[in-house]
Amino acid sequence: MKIEFLGTRGKIKPSAPGYKNHTGILIDDQLLFDVGEEEFLEFPHQVIFFTHYHPDHAFFISAGESFEVATPHYGPESHPLLPHVRIFDSSLKWGDYRITSFPVIHALNLQSLGYVIEKDGKRVMLTGDVAWIEKGVLDKLPSMDLVCTEASFINKGGRINRMDGKIYGHTGIPDLIRILSKVTRRIAFAHYGEWFFSFHPNGPQMIKEMATPGMELIPAKDGTMVRL
Ligand SMILES: [Zn+2]
Ligand SMILES: [Zn+2]
Repeated sequence: MKIEFLGTRGKIKPSAPGYKNHTGILIDDQLLFDVGEEEFLEFPHQVIFFTHYHPDHAFFISAGESFEVATPHYGPESHPLLPHVRIFDSSLKWGDYRITSFPVIHALNLQSLGYVIEKDGKRVMLTGDVAWIEKGVLDKLPSMDLVCTEASFINKGGRINRMDGKIYGHTGIPDLIRILSKVTRRIAFAHYGEWFFSFHPNGPQMIKEMATPGMELIPAKDGTMVRL
């Protein structure tokens, strides 16, 4: 599988050369995960999956435009701006790919899904934005050749908000490394937050230095390709 990072910037104002686009991951020029920029629709793809409907993952949300593409597209729930969306129902076979979803805690009033994509004995997991992933969910996942996750906060704990007994926001990179190391030895990061741009150009090195023995950490930039 060829995993291509189309965008690596979180929902923030700062940007830097190579870190301009919002979220999008394209697999084998066939499966597109999140559409943070309208131009991602110009890349070859056959099907679209949304992790959640924040505007940095679904470009049309902030403009209040309806998403009217003929390409089949799946998401975690219905939304007035996605009249043709198909609700993703836990598992789907698409050509040679098996795509499976798992619940991710991230936003207060939106559902979020992570996805596992399998083909030819290789397995990649996309977490989308993460406040937390329940232990029971992680424990059920098989081992991954690659996990693609987010990098909004470099501090332990990230920025988590609480309301009505629920948590939402983004956990930190150290927490993600810790929980995801249960399923993989290889983690790619995108969706950079303010910290990345204030430390620019040192952000990628700062991530690499957080690797524990035997663990490979890949700080992606717009256009980074990882092959499995
Ligand atoms: Zn986001
Ligand atoms: Zn989000």
